[in-house]
Amino acid sequence: AGTDAAAKRLTKPGPQLLDTVNTFIFDCDGVIWRGDSVIDGVPETLDFLRAQGKRLFFVTNNSTKSRKGYLGKFTKLGLPVKAEEIFSSSFAAAAYLEEINFKATGKKVYIIGEVGIQEELDLIGVPYIGGEQDKGKQPDMSPGSALEHDHDVGAVIVGFDRYVNYYKIQYAQLCINENPGCLFIATNLDAVTHLTDAQEWAGNGSMVGAIKGCTGREPIVVGKPAPLMIDYLVNKYKVQRSEICMVGDRLDTDILFGKNNGLSTVLTLSGVTTEQKLTSPDNKIQPQWVVDSIADFRQE
Ligand code: PLP
Ligand code: CA
Repeated sequence: AGTDAAAKRLTKPGPQLLDTVNTFIFDCDGVIWRGDSVIDGVPETLDFLRAQGKRLFFVTNNSTKSRKGYLGKFTKLGLPVKAEEIFSSSFAAAAYLEEINFKATGKKVYIIGEVGIQEELDLIGVPYIGGEQDKGKQPDMSPGSALEHDHDVGAVIVGFDRYVNYYKIQYAQLCINENPGCLFIATNLDAVTHLTDAQEWAGNGSMVGAIKGCTGREPIVVGKPAPLMIDYLVNKYKVQRSEICMVGDRLDTDILFGKNNGLSTVLTLSGVTTEQKLTSPDNKIQPQWVVDSIADFRQE
């Protein structure tokens, strides 16, 4: 495979984008908001695109909230969206379990992760243990002691968990190593995230790495850049891939997700990727277009 053509700067969306694209998929953090504040010009841009008849979806790798949790966040930020327009990696994990008919196994899930995954599993009626319940726990490691685990765990889901601890790692290790049939599902592999603007924070890649490290197993990844969410969306809403544009701030998740799945791609510099990183010879992932922020999508 040759090197991709360099990204073109999109100053006005004009016919190149708006005539060929009928569906926009927006990554959330770094595109719509940064942490808890909306990026300048975003509400007007979303209104503009809706007025043009475009279909909008929002796809985030952050599994700490469910779709319902994100609906609350969009609403609080004054952004009118519908529940079915939101896709989170917590939802993707549940959608994967539905796809493989996990419920029919009668097994439960062990969660390393936060409330988002729990709420999504509640909605599909799959039982789980771990998650918030194992916050602050420590296994007894005195001589001769062993951590008992539930042998009915058929899948371990690993999502971002601010309360990850050795108890959870050991529990997941036992579920996977003592049962070769136990699935190992990762919501996403983001190496670092922007929990605060001040620095980069260890992302879910670190929690997934811990479980890979003690099991030697590779996870099934359901978040970007894995195709699960786009396949779901295309099947459910009957949209053509050639008419979808993926807009994101991360090259190795969003832009790769778009490129691997036949979508057109726009990188926005309003998030984690700098122009320098984009144009560096080390970067092999080129989007079709680049904008400073999605506010550039609006034609005056
Ligand atoms: N995971 C966590 C824990 C995060 O905090 C973030 C961003 O804040 C992400 C993933 C990436 O989210 P997105 O896909 O919306 O950029
Ligand atoms: Ca992002």
